[in-house]
Amino acid sequence: MSAPNIDTIVSLAKRRGFVFPSSDIYGGLGSAWDYGPLGVELSNNIKQSWWRWLVYERDDIEGIDSSIILNRLVWKYSGHEATFHDPLVDCRECKTRMRADKIEGKCANCGSTNLTEPRNFNMMFRTVLGAAAEEDDPTALAYLRPETAQGIFINFLNVQTTLRRKIPFGIAQIGKSFRNEITPGNFILRTREFEQMEMEYFVKPDAEHLKLVDEWVELYLEWFKSLGISGDNLQLHEVPAEELAHYSKRTVDIMYRYFPERPEQERQWEELMGIAYRTDFDLRSHSNKPVDEEGKRVNPDSTEDLSYFDETTKQRFYPHVIEPAAGVNRTVLAVLMDAYSEKTNDKGETRVILRLSPQLAPIKAAILPLAKNKPEIVGMAKAIKRSLQPVLRAVYDDTGGIGKLYARQDEIGTPMCVTVDHQSLEDEAVTVRDRDTWEQERVKVAELADYLQRRLKATSPVQPVAGTSSLEI
Ligand code: ATP
Repeated sequence: MSAPNIDTIVSLAKRRGFVFPSSDIYGGLGSAWDYGPLGVELSNNIKQSWWRWLVYERDDIEGIDSSIILNRLVWKYSGHEATFHDPLVDCRECKTRMRADKIEGKCANCGSTNLTEPRNFNMMFRTVLGAAAEEDDPTALAYLRPETAQGIFINFLNVQTTLRRKIPFGIAQIGKSFRNEITPGNFILRTREFEQMEMEYFVKPDAEHLKLVDEWVELYLEWFKSLGISGDNLQLHEVPAEELAHYSKRTVDIMYRYFPERPEQERQWEELMGIAYRTDFDLRSHSNKPVDEEGKRVNPDSTEDLSYFDETTKQRFYPHVIEPAAGVNRTVLAVLMDAYSEKTNDKGETRVILRLSPQLAPIKAAILPLAKNKPEIVGMAKAIKRSLQPVLRAVYDDTGGIGKLYARQDEIGTPMCVTVDHQSLEDEAVTVRDRDTWEQERVKVAELADYLQRRLKATSPVQPVAGTSSLEI
């Protein structure tokens, strides 16, 4: 089972401290969201999983963290100033403004076909640099980045030469991007400020680029499944030639079933990520060497040639690029939707259980005292929490009866609850309760840390790789 619709997750996320509507006390800000104590843990765990998988476990990928505000010329030569548009239409009946490519000729609000002609709208957020700059000073104009990729391209030579990398190799980056979306919405699916996990994989000009796209698609499908997302809710979409971005020769999108409540074939699916073959477009257009038919430099502003010299073939060329570009927020939403389930207890009450993979669960173990008015029990529970914390993320909670505390932890996806009771004071043992089965087992306190780590690893779809510490569960 997964969530019946996004609204179920919106209310769970707000109720339990994953994601709050932003600026709520001032009436909100259209489609802006703040990550709460549990949301920040979940999203950090997703980012860490991605970083470990690509940067640590492979030997051919380096990480970077580039600026959000770059020289405006980056966006001129990347093509974004001229082409990063979405087609905008207005409904003449109800005045709703929409993206023409998302509505199939009918107003999404009132169904009218009386729409204006589509016109292009550049989605980059503008700002001005410098305290003395006027709003309309073109020399002070700058943009917030609409993708993290360009920060990677302009650092290609820096990384390649300092790390002595040979092609093929990749550069990975996680960071915020900004797009002035015409129709943001559907919770964290489409927002103006969002986070991306992008990787540019540099290969030879004669590599099998289209096959490499397929290989990265397969790898990402496996990674999403390792996060606990069911393959039934993932689908591939080959982007038609006429819809490809200006830099792409082929793009395959991995789609997630974000709208299961809709009838099949009616936009149940939305893009989770895209894998694009970007050719040598970006490295070439940021370089100072290429010339046009008349022998004039195509880029008179760049001071560098971002080409690569192949020692074995003694050839110089612009590497070609395969780019898997994933969204952190859309992954958070897919993970939450897929983990959502309901279970009926023996009193006939429905309980929500978030079956998050243990590696992603915000809290790995909750330590609960059976009686909060017994100082010995409380003291023992708090001591257990402190002893576990260096090994795994644990919390102490005594703000309700044990049934309520269990239900609360189930709903936020905590894999294990540890209960300290009267008998614990005698036998130095505690009860460990499993989130998914609700089964309980008695465990000696001295063996608890090992026991929990073993159980968390055993139920985790992704086994930590050899050599990583248990801190990284
Ligand atoms: P869409 O067609 O849905 O607008 P896109 O094809 O423009 O997306 P890309 O440029 O391929 O998106 O960006 C890579 C990834 O970044 C997307 O697959 C998505 O996960 C994420 N992303 C892009 N735009 C947004 C947004 N406005 N809000 C949240 N995530 C986004």
